[in-house]
Amino acid sequence: MSGEIAVTPILAVLVAAALAAGAAAFGGIPLVLRGRLPLAWIGWANAIAGGLMLGVAYSLFTAGGRPDALRVAAGAVLGIGFVAFTHRATGTHDLDLNRLDQTPSEYGYQVILVSALHAAAEGVAIGAAMAVSLPFGIFTAAAIAVHNVPEATVLAAILTARGVRPRDAAGLAVAANVNQILLAVVTFAVIGESAGLLPWALGFAVGALVCLVLAELLPESYRQAGRTGIALATILAMGVVILLDAVRPR
Ligand SMILES: [Zn+2]
Repeated sequence: MSGEIAVTPILAVLVAAALAAGAAAFGGIPLVLRGRLPLAWIGWANAIAGGLMLGVAYSLFTAGGRPDALRVAAGAVLGIGFVAFTHRATGTHDLDLNRLDQTPSEYGYQVILVSALHAAAEGVAIGAAMAVSLPFGIFTAAAIAVHNVPEATVLAAILTARGVRPRDAAGLAVAANVNQILLAVVTFAVIGESAGLLPWALGFAVGALVCLVLAELLPESYRQAGRTGIALATILAMGVVILLDAVRPR
C-alpha cells in the first residue's frame, strides 16, 4: 500500500476533494425549484447519504487489508471517539439533523457546525483513500461527492425553513464542506510523511463515518419516511458503492 503514496500528487488530492465539496452546491437545486420540501424527502436524502457513507466505510475497511486489521480497528475506535467528543464539546450530541419546524434560534448555527464536523471526517476518508492509491482515492472522492448532494439538500432545507434564501443556503452547504478539502490534504500529507499511519487513518474514517450515519443521519429519518423504506434505501445506496468498488479500475 505505502509504495504508491508518492505517485499521487497532492494536487490530485486537492482537486478531487474540492470537486467533492463543491458538489454540495447541487444539493440546493431542489430548494430553488420547489421552495419547501416534504418532510419525507429529508428522511430519504439522509438515508441515501448515510448508505453511501456506509459503502465508503466498507471500502475503506477492506482497503486496510488483513495484516493491518487490528490497527484499522484501533483507528476506528479513535474515529468513534472523535465524533462522540466533538458532539459533546459543541453541545450537539442530541441534535436532530433534519428538523424544519419548532426549533430554537441557535439551531441553524448548530446544524452548520455539525455539518462542518461531519465533513471533516469525510475529508480524512478522502485523504486516506488517496494514500492507498490514486484510483481508490478518486473513487472515494466521487462517492463522497455524490453523497454531499443529498446531505446539502437536508442542510439547505433546514436553512431555507429558517428564512435563508435557497441560493445562499446552497452556498452555506458548500462552505460547510470546505474543511473536507483541508482535512483530505492534511491527512494525505501526514500519511506521506509516515506511511505507518495509513491503517490508523483508514480506521479513523471508518469509525467516524459509521458513527455519523447511526447517530446523526438515520435516527430522525425513520420517523420522517418510515422504517422499512429508510432501511432499504440505506442498504441499496451502500450496496451500490460496494458493487462499484468491486468493479472499478484498479
Ligand atoms: Zn456524510
